[in-house]
Amino acid sequence: MIDKKAKQDCSGCSACASVCPKNCIEMRADEQGFRYPHVNYEECVHCGLCDQVCEKAAKGVVSETIPKGYGACANDQKLRFGSSSGGIFTLLAEKVLEENGIVVGAAFSDDFRSVRHVVVDSPNGLAALRGSKYLQSNIGDSFKKVKEYLQNGRNVLFSGTPCQVAGLKAYLKKDYENLLCVDIVCHGVPSAGVWAKYCNEIENGLGGKIDKVNFRHKKFGWADYAVSVSLKGGKDLFLFKNEDPYIRLFLNDYSLRPSCYHCNHKGINRKSDITLADFWDVKKLLPEVSDGKGTSLLLVHSEKGLRYVKAISELVNIKEVDTIQAVNHNLSTIQSARRPSEADSFWKDFESLTIDNLAQKYVPISTRKRIKLMIKKTLFLVF
Ligand SMILES: Cc1cc2nc3c(=O)[nH]c(=O)nc-3n(C[C@H](O)[C@H](O)[C@H](O)COP(=O)(O)OP(=O)(O)OC[C@H]3O[C@@H](n4cnc5c(N)ncnc54)[C@H](O)[C@@H]3O)c2cc1C
Repeated sequence: MIDKKAKQDCSGCSACASVCPKNCIEMRADEQGFRYPHVNYEECVHCGLCDQVCEKAAKGVVSETIPKGYGACANDQKLRFGSSSGGIFTLLAEKVLEENGIVVGAAFSDDFRSVRHVVVDSPNGLAALRGSKYLQSNIGDSFKKVKEYLQNGRNVLFSGTPCQVAGLKAYLKKDYENLLCVDIVCHGVPSAGVWAKYCNEIENGLGGKIDKVNFRHKKFGWADYAVSVSLKGGKDLFLFKNEDPYIRLFLNDYSLRPSCYHCNHKGINRKSDITLADFWDVKKLLPEVSDGKGTSLLLVHSEKGLRYVKAISELVNIKEVDTIQAVNHNLSTIQSARRPSEADSFWKDFESLTIDNLAQKYVPISTRKRIKLMIKKTLFLVF
C-alpha cells in the first residue's frame, strides 16, 4: 500500500491523496517535517488507485528531443526585482489570466511557517506566488481544483516543482489543451519543519511576528542574493545566502527531502510545457540578456509552451541559447543533490539544536564572519 513505500521513493506530490475516492489518505508530516501519505484502513476499499497514480507520477520522461532554450528577462524592472530570476513566471501567468484563466502556484501561509498551492484569478493575486520559497509546498486539494477548472473549460496555468507537475499529470490521467504546466529547475525541496523552527527562533530572538519573507532579495544583486525577513514593528533580518543558517543548510543539501537525492524528474525533458531556471552563466553564454539583475533560463517542451513564450515576447528581452550548453552550466537541471555523509547526524541533532547551531556544526563559517553576523543581528540590521 501507498503508505508502506520507502520514504526515499515518495516525493510528497499528493497525487495519491487527491485520487482516493474515499478521501482516506492524509498527507501527514513526519518528525523531519516532510509530508507522507497515511491511509485510514477503516475507510480504505483497496481500489489500488493510489498505487497506480503513484507509479505513473514517479516515472521520469525518456525522450531524445532537445527542448528549445532561451535566456529571457522581463522589460518591467520592478517585476524583475521582485522575482527570483527574470520575472518570466509572472508574465506567463498574466497572459493566462488575460484569457480569463486561473493560475495555481506556491504561496506562504498567513503565519509564513508553511507554503501551500493556491488558486489565483486576478493579477493582484500573483504577488503571493512570485519568488522562490525554499521549502516544500503543500498541494492540498489543488489538483482537484485544477481538474474542475479544466473540465469547466477554463485555461489553467499550474506551476510547481517537477514532481508536483508529474503528480498532477498522473492524477489528471489525460492531456488537456487548456492546461499550461510550468515547472522549475529544482535543487531539491527543504523541509517545512526546518523552516518553521527557524521562524520560531527569529520571532523569539527579535520579538515580533513575521510579516514578510523574501528568499531572493536582489538589493545587492541577483547572484549575491539575500534572505530578508521583515517583522511587524519594523525589524528586518537581512542575511546574504552564505550567511543565513537556513540557506546554508539548504544549499549544502542537509535539509532536503529524502527523495530529492535521487529525483526521477531530472533531465532536459520534462512533463511540463515550460521549465524555468536561474540562468546563472548568462554572462558567458548570452551577454545580450545579462545585466546582473536576473535572467531566466527557459526550456520549452511543447508547441503550447512555445505559443505562450511567443505571446509574451514583446514584454521581454529574449534570446535563443544552445540548450545543452545552458544546461551544462546549470547542473541542478540534470543531477540530483548529493546526500551529505553527515545527514543522519544532522537529523539526530535537529530536535535539540537551534538552526543557527546546526548550520555552525554542519556548514561552519569563520569566527570573524560569525562575529560580524552577531553584531548585524544584535543591531537587527534594519535596511
Ligand atoms: C525549492 C526551489 C529550488 C530551486 N532550485 C533551483 C536551482 O537549483 N537552479 C535553478 O536554476 N533554479 C532553481 N529554482 C527556480 C528559480 O529559483 C526560479 O523560481 C525560476 O528561475 C523562476 O523565476 P522567475 O523569476 O521566472 O519567477 P518567480 O516569480 O521567481 O517564480 C515563482 C514560481 O515558482 C513557484 N514556486 C515558488 N516556490 C515554490 C515552491 N516551494 N514549490 C513549488 N513551486 C514554487 C511559484 O509557484 C511560481 O510559479 C528553484 C526554485 C525553488 C522553489
